[in-house]
Amino acid sequence: MKHIFSAGIALALTLTTATSYAQSPPSYQDQQRLHDIAKAVSAKHIEQDIRTLVGFGTRHTLSETASDTQGIGAARRWIKSEFEQISQDCGGCLEVYFQSKTISGETRIPGATEVVSVIAVQRGSHDPDRYVLMSGDIDSRVSDVMNSASISPGANDNASGVAGTLEAARVLSKYTFNGSIVYAALAGEEQGLFGGKILAEQAQKDGWRIKAVLNNDMIGNIEGINGVINNTTARIFAEGTRQTETSEEAITRRFTGGEVDSPSRNLARYIDWMADRYIPNLDTMVIYRLDRFGRGGHHRPFNDLGYPGVRIMETNENYNRQHQDIRSENGIDYGDTIEGVNFDYAAKLTALNAVSLAGMAWAPSPPAKVKIAGAVKPSTTLSWQALSSKQNPQLKGYKIYWRYTDAPQWQYSRFVGNVDTFTLENVVIDNYFFGVASVSQDGAESPVVFPGAAGAFGE
Ligand SMILES: [Zn+2]
Repeated sequence: MKHIFSAGIALALTLTTATSYAQSPPSYQDQQRLHDIAKAVSAKHIEQDIRTLVGFGTRHTLSETASDTQGIGAARRWIKSEFEQISQDCGGCLEVYFQSKTISGETRIPGATEVVSVIAVQRGSHDPDRYVLMSGDIDSRVSDVMNSASISPGANDNASGVAGTLEAARVLSKYTFNGSIVYAALAGEEQGLFGGKILAEQAQKDGWRIKAVLNNDMIGNIEGINGVINNTTARIFAEGTRQTETSEEAITRRFTGGEVDSPSRNLARYIDWMADRYIPNLDTMVIYRLDRFGRGGHHRPFNDLGYPGVRIMETNENYNRQHQDIRSENGIDYGDTIEGVNFDYAAKLTALNAVSLAGMAWAPSPPAKVKIAGAVKPSTTLSWQALSSKQNPQLKGYKIYWRYTDAPQWQYSRFVGNVDTFTLENVVIDNYFFGVASVSQDGAESPVVFPGAAGAFGE
């Protein structure tokens, strides 16, 4: 009722002014190549890779490293050889390397232990220092987090994430992208998120312009502990205000907004739209949390440094299959075994990653230095820094998005051309949240960037 009444008043007012236009739902150019990518992801490859990873017996961080068939050392060497094979098949398109650091004196890593991740970089053609990342974790655990000897298949947690990352590399390595894509099999997750921390810190040191981290942790279980069986939904966890916000930025945010528009949130909205557009029979739930209640994952070390990052995972968890010794008790089977993984579902979530990575890597860089003005005016003006045409030769222009402040997803859009400022006449700044995306000639879009420090994706 309230809305109808105020719409009436707005109509009466606009009759007295000259310019006004209808608010239209977001326009979008469908891209066949993203349908092709989604379709190319193979559940069979994912099954094979999960079986191989489970076959190493345990992938506990403190397990043995000398054997070629058992333990964390054998597992990481196999992952590296897989990435190298993928690279060979694309004419050397991946830079594959171990990233390692010796950790000691930690609660869960008391003695000196090499924590070794496997990284593969598919270098972008024009903007090679801009990165989007997909990750899964190599290591596994049982009931006692320090038990490095017992069989610990970690089939869903998190061979599924590593297998998905390998398969995304197989599919995407057939294409060339404007920005770089990183495929990361991260180590030491269960012992304290070490692999993610090592990569995030090194990336910051090397000046990587990270625009997205898609951390995949448990993407194969469809049977919840409560008996729910569902293969049509997934969760995207995204933090609110960024961890690196200064107290000055917090004061600005109090007056201009941004609590629900961190870059991680707008990354999550981007992935949510990719699911709607390219992944049949998958509805994603964007969850306004860093992670599950009180729990952690490998996107966090990136969020800690201010990088946009989310956790992608199944909706229905089965706790009997997580971090458990393999056993039967009172008729219940415990353990993270291969039987608990649905390969088609893991492929579906992998496809979601692949189209999201491809969409962002083909798109121009997300707009930087986005500003907004319009207080005590009937119009709203957005401005941003024009992107370099050398790094972004595919740029067509920019698109402004807006939505009601209590709406979860962007509702309206207007393509405004290749300009660095635009005024939306008769759209009142107080009543909406706004953002800007960059758009390529062939329709690839960046995530939407909310103005100010609260929403910035960086330079
Ligand atoms: Zn775990």
